[in-house]
Amino acid sequence: MAFELPELGYAYDALEPNIDARTMEIHHSKHHNGYTTKLNAAVAGTDLEGKSIEDILANLDMSNAAVRNNGGGFFNHSLFWSVMNPEGKGYLSGELKDAIEAAYGSKETFMEAFSNAAATQFGSGWAWLCVHKGGKVEVCSTPNQDNPLMPGVSCGGTPILGLDVWEHAYYLNYQNRRPDYINAFFNVINWNEVEKRYADAK
Ligand code: MN
Repeated sequence: MAFELPELGYAYDALEPNIDARTMEIHHSKHHNGYTTKLNAAVAGTDLEGKSIEDILANLDMSNAAVRNNGGGFFNHSLFWSVMNPEGKGYLSGELKDAIEAAYGSKETFMEAFSNAAATQFGSGWAWLCVHKGGKVEVCSTPNQDNPLMPGVSCGGTPILGLDVWEHAYYLNYQNRRPDYINAFFNVINWNEVEKRYADAK
């Protein structure tokens, strides 16, 4: 089975004014679609064909640039769409709240750490909240389309919240104001989904 571009689960304009419809449409239908198509081309006819994206990334040959960039791009954007929603559904609670407070003291301190990771990632990349086995959480960032599932990349663990800080993710609406985009992202986080991913990963 080839990889398929996932549906957003909401309309392109659903995240306005935090993320504008034109950015969402181009980001999903052009950028994410491109990563998906190129990933399929890169694995076709190889021993990676038919494997899950998580399996491919966890066992990745980091010198395989086509799979590294497009497999990362496919996974990262699929996660990104799923951890946002129009209402900022839910709020931080339960076991994930406990884990974040254990690691960062409070939700506010965690948000500062996450914002800082996103703001200081030089050039294109991602900010992450990851879960290690046993449930400890950690914030980190990666360049390009790398992610912590890949061997030896950044903080390791399973990413459960990700923020795309490539300029294509915000430039139309925010131009060079990455910090404003980061703040807007916090308004649309789907905490229910992040908590579900935490429970699955820990
Ligand atoms: Mn992107």
